[in-house]
Amino acid sequence: MTFPVIGVVGGGQLARMMAPAATALGLELRVLAEAEDVSAVPAVPNAPVGDYRSLDDLREFARGVDVLTFDHEHVPTEHLLTLMAEGVNVQPGPGALVHAQDKLRMRSAVDALGLPNPRWRAAHHVEELVAFGDEIGWPVVLKTPRGGYDGKGVRVLRSRADAEESIDWFGTMTPLLAEEMVEFSRELSALVARTPDGQSRAWPVVHTIQVHGVCDEVIAPAPGIDPAVAAAAQEAALRIADELGVTGVMAAELFETPGRGVGFLVNELAMRPHNTGHWTQDGCVTSQFEQHLRAVLGLPLGATDVLGEWAIMKNYLGGANQDLFSAYPAALAADPAAKVHGYGKSVRPGRKIGHVNLVGGAGSDPDELRARAARVAAIIRDGASAPGGADAPQDLPARPKEKA
Ligand code: ADP
Repeated sequence: MTFPVIGVVGGGQLARMMAPAATALGLELRVLAEAEDVSAVPAVPNAPVGDYRSLDDLREFARGVDVLTFDHEHVPTEHLLTLMAEGVNVQPGPGALVHAQDKLRMRSAVDALGLPNPRWRAAHHVEELVAFGDEIGWPVVLKTPRGGYDGKGVRVLRSRADAEESIDWFGTMTPLLAEEMVEFSRELSALVARTPDGQSRAWPVVHTIQVHGVCDEVIAPAPGIDPAVAAAAQEAALRIADELGVTGVMAAELFETPGRGVGFLVNELAMRPHNTGHWTQDGCVTSQFEQHLRAVLGLPLGATDVLGEWAIMKNYLGGANQDLFSAYPAALAADPAAKVHGYGKSVRPGRKIGHVNLVGGAGSDPDELRARAARVAAIIRDGASAPGGADAPQDLPARPKEKA
């Protein structure tokens, strides 16, 4: 057997969802899990528990794999550099990955590539932050450059007084990233994959809806998007991947800004399969999880054609229902076309525990698909008999703000 072994650092739902793709290709996936009970452990036969912050644990794990890749972006750069120096094949490499780990590095790189950023600055102390806000106007968005996710590490400062109150953040990490509060019509995501030898592919640009900083829904492709904006966004993501030497899947999260510049600004980069790409599991010839495996192995990439006219992804977070399976009969009966992807996680309020994908053929209506996907997700989240569950009519989700 000469099939390679892929090692994923981190045992979250992204690693879990790589498992079926690895199985289909006949590849072995191993996971360095944070604990016995994380999402990916039941999905892969070989999932040792270890600490991604420990060089020894990483080393030990890397010994048995042909390529090392990631479920999250938190592995310290210095450990990856050490592993590489010791001959480990790390994909994406630390030089690329740092732009997904550190938002200040990302902003500088986007500027250097001549791609559109919001106005920003590195703020070393409150006075710099206040000066920035006074210069560009309030509100200002303050971010911790490292360690944030799902809106944690993002604060909106409405005034000088708010800025002065953010002194606590300066104690923990400096400099911080200060950005203008962008007036966007909606958020987009441009998902691409790239191999170490520079082959790349893009999926259609999608509309992503965030609720409290967490991805809630994705509509693929982004309805009514200006084709020139979509093309420019794909091109920008491919260029970023190329010039930063990204390997595997990369998501460029964008703000759509009609009438301003090329029509979008870069928000942030993720270098791994991404929540905004989950729709590809059921909506595309090649899912982002399969593509990530192909890409990190340097294999030919798969086609990214969409398998319908529209694809919807609706996340469900932990809610009232603790016994998710008890809601499955009602949820699956509500919509036989819906594809449920559960993460095998215990239910905690606000925790991402699964998503529903729904693909619509020619002539389908994205809003109707959204309502159907939301209904299935709500039944699982709330339980079959709760308000909003199978017995109650489900409100149509608010129509996303179309561009002006
Ligand atoms: P995270 O790394 O936690 O995902 P992001 O930087 O993507 O953080 O910010 C989370 C959300 O906050 C974004 O999806 C967007 O809705 C909002 N946001 C972030 N930066 C800005 C900004 N400069 N202007 C307006 N909204 C923003």
